Amino acid sequence: MEKTVAQKLDALTNLQRIDSELDEIKKVRGALPDEVADLEDEIAGYQTRIDKFKSEAGDLETSIADYKTQIKNSEALIKKYNEQQMNVRNNREYDAITKEIELQNLEIQISEKRIKEAFAKIEIKNGEIAKTEEELAERAKDLSSKKGELETLTKESHDDEQKLMNARTKATKDIEERLLVSYNKLRDNARNGLAVVPVDRGACGGCFNVVPPQRQADIRERKKIIVCEHCGRILADVTDEIVVEEAKPKRSRRAATKA
Ligand SMILES: [Zn+2]
Repeated sequence: MEKTVAQKLDALTNLQRIDSELDEIKKVRGALPDEVADLEDEIAGYQTRIDKFKSEAGDLETSIADYKTQIKNSEALIKKYNEQQMNVRNNREYDAITKEIELQNLEIQISEKRIKEAFAKIEIKNGEIAKTEEELAERAKDLSSKKGELETLTKESHDDEQKLMNARTKATKDIEERLLVSYNKLRDNARNGLAVVPVDRGACGGCFNVVPPQRQADIRERKKIIVCEHCGRILADVTDEIVVEEAKPKRSRRAATKA
C-alpha cells in the first residue's frame, strides 16, 4: 500500500532521530580513536629516535676500540724503532728512525684526541636517549589512559548502539529505496549529519536560511516532500514559533513547554 507523504515524512524524521543519536554516541567517543592513533605514532617516533641514538653511540664505541688498537700498534712500532735505533750504522739512519718515532707519537696523540671526542659525543647521545625515554614513558602513560577511556566508552555505549542499530534497520524498512538514497546522500554531504530538518523560527533547521512563508505553508500541509532551496535538506515540518514577550523574564524551555 502506498504511504501518504505525511507518513513518509514521519518515517524520515524517525530515521533522522535514530541517526542523530548514533552520531551523538560517536561524538562522545569523538577524538579519542584519533588521539589513540596519534599517540601510537608519536611513541613509535620516539622509539625510532632512541634506536638511532643507540646505534650512533654503538658506532662511536666501535671507533674508540679502533683508535685504541691503533694506539697499541703505534706503541709496538715505537718499541721496535727504539730497538732498531740501538743498532744503527750512521746518523742518517738514526735520524730517519727518530722521524718515524715522532710520527707514531703524533698518531697516538691524534687517536687520544679522537677517543676523547668520541666519549664526549657518547655522553651527549646518552643524554638524548634518557630524555627521549622519559618523553616516551610520559606518552605511553597518556596512551594507556586514553585506551582505557575509549574501551570504557565503547563498552558503555555498546548496548545503546546495538538498540539504535536495530531500530535503524526497522526504520529504514518503512522508507522507499529512492528516498533512502537521497537521505543517505544528504547526510553524507552535511557536516552536522542532518538530512531531515524542521523549519525553525522561519529558517531551515539545517542551513538556517530563511524559508519563505508560502513555502512554510506548503510544508505544513505535508502534501509533498519539500526540500530547502539553499541546502537541499528535506523540510519535514514547521515548528511553531513561541512568542515571547520582551518585557517578561525569560523562562526555561521546559517551563515554556509546560505552560
Ligand atoms: Zn537549508
